[in-house]
Amino acid sequence: MVKTDFGPPKYLDMMSDLCKRNYGKWKYHEVLDTGTLVHVAESGEKLYTVRAATPRLMHVDTLRAFCDLADKYCGGFFRFTSRHSIEFLVEDEANIEPLKAELHAMGYTPGGVGNTISNMLHTQGWIHCHTPAIDASGIVKSVMDEVFEYYKEAKLPARLRLALACCLNMCGAVHCSDVAIVGVHRVPPKVDDEKISKMCEIPNVVAACPTRAIRPEPAKKSVVVNEERCMYCGNCYTMCPAMPIFDPKNDGAAIFVGGKVSDARHPAMFSKLAVPYIPNEPPRWPTLVKTVRLLIDVYAKDAKEGERYGEWINRIGWEKFFKVTGLPFTDKHIDDYIFSVPTFRSTATFKW
Ligand code: SF4
Ligand code: SF4
Repeated sequence: MVKTDFGPPKYLDMMSDLCKRNYGKWKYHEVLDTGTLVHVAESGEKLYTVRAATPRLMHVDTLRAFCDLADKYCGGFFRFTSRHSIEFLVEDEANIEPLKAELHAMGYTPGGVGNTISNMLHTQGWIHCHTPAIDASGIVKSVMDEVFEYYKEAKLPARLRLALACCLNMCGAVHCSDVAIVGVHRVPPKVDDEKISKMCEIPNVVAACPTRAIRPEPAKKSVVVNEERCMYCGNCYTMCPAMPIFDPKNDGAAIFVGGKVSDARHPAMFSKLAVPYIPNEPPRWPTLVKTVRLLIDVYAKDAKEGERYGEWINRIGWEKFFKVTGLPFTDKHIDDYIFSVPTFRSTATFKW
């Protein structure tokens, strides 16, 4: 009989003896450089971590090469972080530099520890999903090439989390990242009356619309979209393949800033709209990359030590954010969704 429902392998079985011995008994850790950490246990034993960003989407040959490195320098042990970086767990300090040299030779630069930009969380894009407005891997490669210095060197006031989602489903962390790229559409879906009754559950389609822009059209066994009410979220297309929303000329990216998940100093924050639209420009997305770079450079220069992106904006105010970045403030920035009122200024305190 086929074995089912057996879950993932037990994580403790994949730890080195040193990790097992000191499990739950770590005393402190230090950042040795932007690619290396050391954890010291109560027993006095040390575990070194060498971290490097990966492109997340990897060939099995790459994974095998990582396994070979782990066999050579780490007793066969490595892991992936929640941001898809690889971490080699080194017990013999003498192995750190040779391991780093081999990683460099493979094209992987250790980094992403401390006040850096670590790996950019991202989604499927044009590689695999059917609802994206932008690609994921292509933009991530272009952005990370541009901001590589911030990954290698700790030059930022605090850590800076980059994320990308290729549609407003926001798979991943774009709603809670310091700088986030989100794919957006700008035209309503096209309703294929012929196919809709064969492919879609009409009540589900109607209920999928956050602005109630869709109503049934019983005579045609189809639906009608009130285009004045549609804000191009694409949720109806997720429910119904007969309502495609793609438009290569109008699809593109929005940029959000100022989100974080940690509660350090300030409670967690949602990211907010900074740039409503930048067109798709594959393969290197120069306008988008330039704008992300600008957003990071201004923060790096202006924020105080330890201040996350959203904390910096809270301190200087959104008026000054738009002034120092030089980005235009438009009607698109003003929240007009159901719970928008608390986002309006209800005080006379603001800067000219
Ligand atoms: S963000 Fe949207 S397009 Fe991208 S992987 Fe998720 S559902 Fe697909
Ligand atoms: S794209 Fe979004 S807002 Fe527009 S009709 Fe579909 S579900 Fe409604």
